[in-house]
Amino acid sequence: MSSPTLDRPRTDPAPPAPRSLLQRDAGLVWHPYAPVDAGALYAVRGAEGVRLTLEGPDGGTHEVIDGMSSWWSAIHGYRHRVLDQAARDQLDSFSHVMFGGLTHEPAVTLAERLVEMAPEGLRHVFLADSGSISVEVALKLALQVQASRGEHRRQRFLALRGGYHGDTFATMGVCDPEDGMHAEFSGVVPQQAFLPRPPAGRLGADGTWEYDGGALASWEGQTREIAARLAPELAGIVCEPVLQGAGGMHAYPPAVVGILRQVADEHGLLLILDEIATGFGRTGRLFASEWAGEWSLQRGGGELIPDILCVGKALTGGYLTLAAMLCTSEVAADLNAGPNGGALLHGPTFMGNPLACAVANASLDLLTGPGDSPAWLAQVQALDAGLRQVLAPASELACVRDVRILGGVGVVQLHGPVDVAAVTREVVDRGAWVRPFRDLVYVMPPYVSTAADVRTLGAAIVEGVARVHG
Ligand SMILES: *Cc1c(COP(=O)(O)O)cnc(C)c1O
Repeated sequence: MSSPTLDRPRTDPAPPAPRSLLQRDAGLVWHPYAPVDAGALYAVRGAEGVRLTLEGPDGGTHEVIDGMSSWWSAIHGYRHRVLDQAARDQLDSFSHVMFGGLTHEPAVTLAERLVEMAPEGLRHVFLADSGSISVEVALKLALQVQASRGEHRRQRFLALRGGYHGDTFATMGVCDPEDGMHAEFSGVVPQQAFLPRPPAGRLGADGTWEYDGGALASWEGQTREIAARLAPELAGIVCEPVLQGAGGMHAYPPAVVGILRQVADEHGLLLILDEIATGFGRTGRLFASEWAGEWSLQRGGGELIPDILCVGKALTGGYLTLAAMLCTSEVAADLNAGPNGGALLHGPTFMGNPLACAVANASLDLLTGPGDSPAWLAQVQALDAGLRQVLAPASELACVRDVRILGGVGVVQLHGPVDVAAVTREVVDRGAWVRPFRDLVYVMPPYVSTAADVRTLGAAIVEGVARVHG
């Protein structure tokens, strides 16, 4: 007769230790531009206001101020009462319906508001599901419009070196040819034409742009020459106005955008402005193209109106993925006159997602605020002043090449590549979250950050960088 007690092995094998989130992640899911084994540095256990609660590999938790706004998007902070409520209200109504043949209040309201906010003249809206897709649609639209004008040879785009416009194939084609993964996908990425990277511009604390006039004149000369030579095969010009983001956090003088507008007009090209990162106030203007409009007005010109504008990132306050492409009536009319009955040949499954549109509408409400003066303006001006102060000490460090501020964007550029893991750890230990890349440690904090939050961010970056790089 066998006894259950006697049959059992003398020592039970220890149950496997529960694997941490970081351990379960590594080797299972990819993170941006990383090998699948790389995993993540921290796990997010909570997010509230401007703060993230992170859990590190040792299981310890860190409460940190998010200096990245989740890549430009979470401008009002996390778990915002108004945005949460907008999502819940829409959830109680309906979350998604197809946009083919159907429409709904959140999408129409959002399109109306975008038209009202955007530079005068942009009257039509395509709702896309991500920034890259909005740029894809902009490129398609430009090609369709040129074809509709009988310009069938005009099939290439002119872009700035150092630019970033997304990760899909067509958008990779207009990203910087060296940093933009062209070599890795050569033969597949469309071959576009490039203008030199514009010379650096610096917005002084007094609000005027400083730059090397000789360098700008030389850039303009090269640009006009390249555009004139390639014009018969060009459909449009694509650029991120005034601030190139993922391509190096490079600010350049607004005059460049004004010159590109002139060049586009002279050669029958569409000017596509990618404001996916810069839109909704981040640079100190509602749209960065307004800096160029001011430059143009000072010279007796008109407001600067792109033919096509792309927005994304901060559109839903960082809650859901949504982007939009806007175009002028002239562009829409030319498309209408073309083949396919004027149809714009794109239509994603989740186009105009009601949840995303409803949250975007609430986010735009917060951006504007209840007062006469828009809420975002005071917030971004405070960030600009605060970042100037708290990042200034970084310029004393031997490892630092440049410190630059533009609105709610602060950049510390080193002489060499950042040790990303080490700097991140030092900064997290000092209460802030940053995600450096290449030679850059940069922040674009949520608009709702307080002066104290900005001080914590600045000190964490200056001390963290000093600790790792000296
Ligand atoms: C982030 C970004 C994109 C791509 O947007 P996704 O939503 O990541 O596809 C395109 N252009 C610019 C300027 C961006 O900053």
